[in-house]
Amino acid sequence: MRNRTAKHSGARPTRGVARIALLALLAGLAAAGCRTAPRARTAAGVQDALTIGEGFLAQEEYDVAKVLYEDVLKSTPNDGMARLGLARAALGLGRFQDALHELNLAENGRAMDAAALQSVQIIRGRTYIRMGKPPVIVWAYLYPIWRKGDIAVKSCLDAEIKALARLVPPETEGARAVMGFVPPPRPAPPPLPHVARDEPAPLPAGQFSILPRARWNPSFPARVKQMLPMHKPFRLTVHHSAHDDVDSAETLAGTARLIRGMQESHIRDRDWADLAYHYVIDPRGRVWEGRSIKYQGAHAGNESLNRGNIGIVLMGDFEAAPPTPAAVANLIALIAHLRRTHGIPPNQIYGHQDLNPTKCPGRHLEAVVKKLRAGNG
Ligand SMILES: [Zn+2]
Repeated sequence: MRNRTAKHSGARPTRGVARIALLALLAGLAAAGCRTAPRARTAAGVQDALTIGEGFLAQEEYDVAKVLYEDVLKSTPNDGMARLGLARAALGLGRFQDALHELNLAENGRAMDAAALQSVQIIRGRTYIRMGKPPVIVWAYLYPIWRKGDIAVKSCLDAEIKALARLVPPETEGARAVMGFVPPPRPAPPPLPHVARDEPAPLPAGQFSILPRARWNPSFPARVKQMLPMHKPFRLTVHHSAHDDVDSAETLAGTARLIRGMQESHIRDRDWADLAYHYVIDPRGRVWEGRSIKYQGAHAGNESLNRGNIGIVLMGDFEAAPPTPAAVANLIALIAHLRRTHGIPPNQIYGHQDLNPTKCPGRHLEAVVKKLRAGNG
């Protein structure tokens, strides 16, 4: 018995070319979201994390996006937008079955509105194309979504629906209609990951925003003569501050006070030259400059371990409780920024306990560090 699918997948030469073009197109579009504008959510930190995840997907940094969304799911289980993010990351990585699995979970996930559910369908259609499903099958799935969709959905699907229209039999319902659609100009892509709030001003695209040292108003000047130059950073180490109360870190002034307290104890009690760490991340996810990156840190245990080693501390104690999604998302963004800037490979990402017998950075944060180290991005 013959079926239409087999008959038409015999592809005339022009259709073969169109099909290859379709796949090439989709390789670039794979994880694009179109309808993922952040909505008002109760948990502000989760919204920040999702926005940062969006930036990673736009930059095709799928491995780190995956770690980020998995972390969001730890604090808000079954969050639909985080599941959708995981699906888009899986599609970008070419893991189609994982993508379909996450899309099914997203559909039944929490906090999904009509636009988010449409995004699920769009990403599922793209997954079918990337899997090489026959064009008539993909058409039967995507065309009704395009037909019922508003102008944003039609625009989002424009490239692939037109490519499909050239592959299906010409008499197919809708094939002519989609060719007549003219999409409005595309909106600008989402900005690169950055700290979402309390910044002096937005930075040009491509720059990671870090609150400068002056913003925490150091109690002591750094003892420059006592420090070694950093040379080229080739690894980085994540710590927790072991603060058991970081409630006052909610405000900029309160966080500045806590960072000053850390510097005071490092200089006065331990006779170090400055704050031990190069970067501090507070529970709201703000990233602060610590010791200047021009100088070697004092965080990893001894001079040889500190050589070329960037020290990052998250405020809090993460042996008992996990860090906030905003703090983790910005840690992931900071690490991605430092890796790009200094060419640091994933296997040079450490938790303090990987270098020394200590509970730092706590088991919850160490789990995130391990995932980042395992990444091949
Ligand atoms: Zn440590």
